[in-house]
Amino acid sequence: MKEGLIFDRSKPGRKGYSLPELDVEKRPISSVIPDSLLRKNDPHLPEITENEVIRHFTRLAEMNYHVDRGFYPLGSCTMKYNPKVNEDAARLPGFLEIHPFQPSSTVQGALRLMVELQGYLAEISGMDAVTLQPAAGAHGELTSMMIVRRYHEKQGNPRKYVLVPDSAHGTNPASVTLAGYQAKTIKSNERGLVNIEELKKYLNEDVAAFMVTNPNTLGLFESEILKVAELVHSVGGLMYMDGANLNALLGYVRPGDIGFDVMHFNLHKTFSTPHGGGGPGSGPVGVKKHLEPFLPVPRVVEKDGKLELSYDFPDSIGKIHGFYGNFDVFVKAYTYIRMMGADGLKKVAEAAVINANYLMSLIKHVYKIAYDRFCMHEFVATGRPFKKYGVRTLDIAKRLLDYGFHAPTIYFPLIVPEALMIEPTETETKETLEAFADALLKIAKEAEENPELLHEAPHNTPVRRLDDAYASKHPDVRWKPEE
Ligand SMILES: *Cc1c(COP(=O)(O)O)cnc(C)c1O
Repeated sequence: MKEGLIFDRSKPGRKGYSLPELDVEKRPISSVIPDSLLRKNDPHLPEITENEVIRHFTRLAEMNYHVDRGFYPLGSCTMKYNPKVNEDAARLPGFLEIHPFQPSSTVQGALRLMVELQGYLAEISGMDAVTLQPAAGAHGELTSMMIVRRYHEKQGNPRKYVLVPDSAHGTNPASVTLAGYQAKTIKSNERGLVNIEELKKYLNEDVAAFMVTNPNTLGLFESEILKVAELVHSVGGLMYMDGANLNALLGYVRPGDIGFDVMHFNLHKTFSTPHGGGGPGSGPVGVKKHLEPFLPVPRVVEKDGKLELSYDFPDSIGKIHGFYGNFDVFVKAYTYIRMMGADGLKKVAEAAVINANYLMSLIKHVYKIAYDRFCMHEFVATGRPFKKYGVRTLDIAKRLLDYGFHAPTIYFPLIVPEALMIEPTETETKETLEAFADALLKIAKEAEENPELLHEAPHNTPVRRLDDAYASKHPDVRWKPEE
């Protein structure tokens, strides 16, 4: 199961192409490109035949784990199946072959798709206006915090703090900091929800916003959100919703109806566009009317029945992405929404919640549930019961790979020790959920009877246990030629 680098297979003179002899006059390259711009050495490309190239990448692809291969219960990431019809739509020549510099008169269809997608997202969320520019959820958070800042500046005081619950995703405080605010952490209460008494202690006129994920990262719906919104608004603060968990709300709850002023969407989570491995993603931002003037430019506007991109929004925070965002992701999300329809999206939320609760019920007699209540689309279990055998959550996650599953998210949220955050999504069958629960229960037995087996897991994967800390501190991802 070892596969070296493609460079290791290189043999001088091997080629992956065949071209006829040149039948026009050869001119020295320096007569076309100035000497100063020409490379001095060859570019060190591997010399390899076409079938060797194909085999190399096919072998790598076979080692990879992905949602088309098996169950992927990575909590908070909504790794639902991505319908292939999305890909068909994204490959329509009219979408595939356009260029962002084309005059808008020649891309009316693409602009129309953007306007309609913005409209669907606004309808789904109860927001008044949407920008599609941000390239990911975290980028949407930053964009939103810039909008919050611009809004408060307009009111005469940018303010200082953004309040964030201790269950928040790490990107939340990071986005707050990048936007020039200071993040203040609010402790959750014993039910895993925003602690209203704690929140009150922090509320004052220096608070720019309250930033919360709903359902939160414990998979629990913030049932007192109306009260929270009222308190935050009473000091002039804005309510921001991290929309990563929108899958649980589709068709049931609209953030705009429960007090939120601004939110981001993760098209690559809720709306079934492929993700993992760094993108491309899309993290649109939706705002209420009072924040609309601050949205990034350009915005698609309609003029005399024609769509065009307009920069004429003097209060805008400006541009936050090259061109207009990741267009092919828009096409996939748009296709998904149109294929599902309003009823279909509602069923998504229902099935996501039912699947999570079913899976939770299959394992909770063995794996303790951190906040053991009816959950939304995901739940957080803990590997704490196995500590007495010297087994940690990391060992359990690694052992799951041997059973052919992707591991859940582990050690997040931070407020649950030895956390296993499990999100099955709506696209899995009952049998898959049961097979996964079986594996977890078998592993629990192994932890008791043969902990060493777990310490050394995984046993059946292309690479064994990695030194994660070393890998993140000393990444070595580039091949360098020998001189
Ligand atoms: C995924 C996620 C984010 C960040 O979104 P990206 O698209 O990965 O940048 C933020 N908050 C929560 C709760 C998430 O699950």
